[in-house]
Amino acid sequence: MNTTRSQAIFNAAQSLMPGGVSSPVRAFRSVGGNPIVFDRVKGAYAWDVDGNRYIDYIGSWGPAICGHSHPEVIAALHDALDRGTSFGAPCELENQLAELVIAAVPSVQMVRFVNSGTEACMSVLRLMRAFTGREKIIKFEGCYHGHADMFLVKAGSGVATLGLPDSPGVPRSTAASTLTAPYNDLEAVKRLFAENPGEIAGVILEPVVGNAGFITPVPGFLEGIRELTKEHGALLVFDEVMTGFRISYGGAQARFGITPDLTTLGKVIGGGLPVGAYGGRADIMAMVAPAGPMYQAGTLSGNPLAMTAGIKTLELLKQPGTYERLEATTQRLIAGILEAGRSAGLPICGGSISAMFGFFLCDGPVQNFEQAKAADAARFGRLHRAMLERGVYLAPSAFEAGFTSLAHSEEDIDATLAAFRACFAAVA
Ligand SMILES: *Cc1c(COP(=O)(O)O)cnc(C)c1O
Repeated sequence: MNTTRSQAIFNAAQSLMPGGVSSPVRAFRSVGGNPIVFDRVKGAYAWDVDGNRYIDYIGSWGPAICGHSHPEVIAALHDALDRGTSFGAPCELENQLAELVIAAVPSVQMVRFVNSGTEACMSVLRLMRAFTGREKIIKFEGCYHGHADMFLVKAGSGVATLGLPDSPGVPRSTAASTLTAPYNDLEAVKRLFAENPGEIAGVILEPVVGNAGFITPVPGFLEGIRELTKEHGALLVFDEVMTGFRISYGGAQARFGITPDLTTLGKVIGGGLPVGAYGGRADIMAMVAPAGPMYQAGTLSGNPLAMTAGIKTLELLKQPGTYERLEATTQRLIAGILEAGRSAGLPICGGSISAMFGFFLCDGPVQNFEQAKAADAARFGRLHRAMLERGVYLAPSAFEAGFTSLAHSEEDIDATLAAFRACFAAVA
């Protein structure tokens, strides 16, 4: 595989931007080698600057669920572009996306648009505190809620991938009000509530984890957290930045039938443009300025281009059969991956829900971050490189979920599984 131009561009980037990237997860630090520089994306594929084509299972880290550069999204964007790129004033498109989100996501009665998942989570935390008058929150080890100070405690995603201790620059006093528990451990959460009576504003979690690898909630876990938060007058926040409109049209909360008080969204709802959102019960959202006293604002929030891409993407997803198709594609993929791994004699476990999947190179089941860390990271690195050379682009980390899209065809899955069979054998 010739990656000469990728190498040259990435080498130049190293002196221009820290680590040569705009976001750490894009670097290949944990799998070895240098990142591939993309030239363009379309459907299930990405092309690099040297002309190599990859079947893409990252999908821009989540947004590309309809496939990259869907013609209807692109056409809608062309139209929107002609009316201007930013208004800084209300626009009807915000109502349209808000109506789609409110109709789809059970907990959301009102919504505020922001520009990223990080911003959504950061704002929802302020809202939790404003509404309850309490300061402490509970999060789970390996869950990632963006890079705001109070969430960089035992965080997942790039923090986990790079093996960083909790980030320097986070004030000790800030970190102290973030309490952590292992995922799927209801008893640990009970203990935290008992040890901090009347002090916990709420619990935030990924209802299906994608930032510590792919980890599903054990039966009773989400239900238990819902009951505990109610019992203690604390709020429950589902961070559905990744799972929203991916696990099902209404997110994990619709799929599991558990309604949190507040929800954060991002990724898919921007259709590939920068969008985040937080929403929930109307009485809580009424705290947000200018309706209420909790301040939160944004120059580009509700941007017409971003709203347009989001609206078109949700309209495409809303069509009948969409999630059945995503489910079937992804199930066939993960079943084939696990079988290929086992045939090569490797310890492997994994699973999928709808258009989200993952596997760990260890005996399962993996139900929390501690267990995820037991997977063979060195072997995953070799596998990642081998797959890349066979034209399959996987997340460059054992601690990230994989994503499929409506554009992934039967042939793409067949080609991917053939590559897995060859590469598992090569790294066994
Ligand atoms: C990606 C992600 C975020 C952060 O979103 P950004 O748009 O990258 O700031 C927050 N929470 C979860 C669950 C995510 O997957």
